[in-house]
Amino acid sequence: MLSQAEVVIVGGGVAGCSIAYHLAKQGVPSQIIERDAIGSQASGKAWGVISPSTNLVLYVEGSWVPEGSMRNCLGLSDEGLRRFPQLAQELKEEGGIDVGYGELPVIRAVFDESEEKYLKERVSQLKSESFEVSWIEAEEVKARCPDIAPGIRGGTLWSGQQVESYKYTLALAQAAEAKGASIRQGEAVGLRGQGSRVASVVLAAREVETDVVVLAMGPWTGQGTGWLGKEIPMRVLRDQCLVLEVPQRLPPWRITSGLGGGVAIVPKVDGKVILGHREDDMVDFDDRPTEEFGLSVMQMAVDTIPRLEEARLIEHRAALVAWHPSGGQPLLGRLPGWDNVYLVTWLAGFGIQWSPALGRIMADLIVKGHSAEPIEPFSPAGYVS
Ligand SMILES: Cc1cc2nc3c(=O)[nH]c(=O)nc-3n(C[C@H](O)[C@H](O)[C@H](O)COP(=O)(O)OP(=O)(O)OC[C@H]3O[C@@H](n4cnc5c(N)ncnc54)[C@H](O)[C@@H]3O)c2cc1C
Repeated sequence: MLSQAEVVIVGGGVAGCSIAYHLAKQGVPSQIIERDAIGSQASGKAWGVISPSTNLVLYVEGSWVPEGSMRNCLGLSDEGLRRFPQLAQELKEEGGIDVGYGELPVIRAVFDESEEKYLKERVSQLKSESFEVSWIEAEEVKARCPDIAPGIRGGTLWSGQQVESYKYTLALAQAAEAKGASIRQGEAVGLRGQGSRVASVVLAAREVETDVVVLAMGPWTGQGTGWLGKEIPMRVLRDQCLVLEVPQRLPPWRITSGLGGGVAIVPKVDGKVILGHREDDMVDFDDRPTEEFGLSVMQMAVDTIPRLEEARLIEHRAALVAWHPSGGQPLLGRLPGWDNVYLVTWLAGFGIQWSPALGRIMADLIVKGHSAEPIEPFSPAGYVS
């Protein structure tokens, strides 16, 4: 069976859905092909926090990736922070879904003397580079978060926002659909090429003819390029989090503790609380939640906000996330050697916050042949063999 679609997007995660939405806004209909359900993988399981670029330089660089390696990504984060308030509104009007948007500033709570010294120095250095961050004393942390554990010495403060990641991904898909996109359930199993162009996407029971293909398959994107004889390096990590119900709402601050490896306590708009902790867990595509993670993250959370001991665990989520082989930047653009194949992956722990920017950039690349800003740092050219 053969059908036709102008642009076929393989993968209904936040990347695929944001591209479909931004294409639809430019009047280009696309078809999303998803083998499971929209937002069924990492995109529906994320904490849903949207952070400014300060987060990348203060928290990510030097902890999980080499110093300086996120500098090309700062604009992606800042575009997210700038656009989400309006985007949430648009998606409610166009897709009919409330994405659970809210402001959620971040306090990095500091209990340790050496961490205090280090962070105070970093804050003044980052401020001199115009990053938005400040140091607040212990009393100011307590005023914002009265439940914080004794021994608090102060903390860093920067702005932030949040959405419900599953609702947001679904809302992008539905708003795209309302503007002419279509969504089909099915697993892509191959691409049929003619010269330097792909002519159709092959599914188990049918084939879809297309002018343009976008591979937005998260950690599985390498399978897609493999159908065309191209390999991309892929670091696949498992990320987990707990969802709690608390007897009394926490104030609307995301509290994190510990440099790099600490806990993130994320109060959601509906009153639930997500506990996250980033690990460097290479799992060979095993996305099962682990008890060890649950116990350790709960302990770190109670050490930071003792009354979380009274909380009730309602969900333990785990999903696979694609990373750059040695850093944290995304991979996006046209697949070398193919005129009408595009890909986006390596969204690491930032796919939700980067999604407005990458959806816009990819739609511009496909429709206009270029994007407003230089995207060479993210180009597949240097990585595909
Ligand atoms: C616990 C956790 C917390 C996180 N917290 C945050 C956060 O707070 N903020 C943030 O910005 N990011 C966060 N992230 C990261 C974010 O979730 C990811 O970067 C993002 O979801 C990646 O989106 P994606 O569309 O590339 O991939 P995915 O969500 O993995 O989507 C890829 C889709 O492709 C489909 N697919 C694959 N192969 C095929 C095929 N052959 N045919 C058809 N369909 C196929 C899959 O089924 C899947 O639905 C978090 C992630 C996790 C796991």
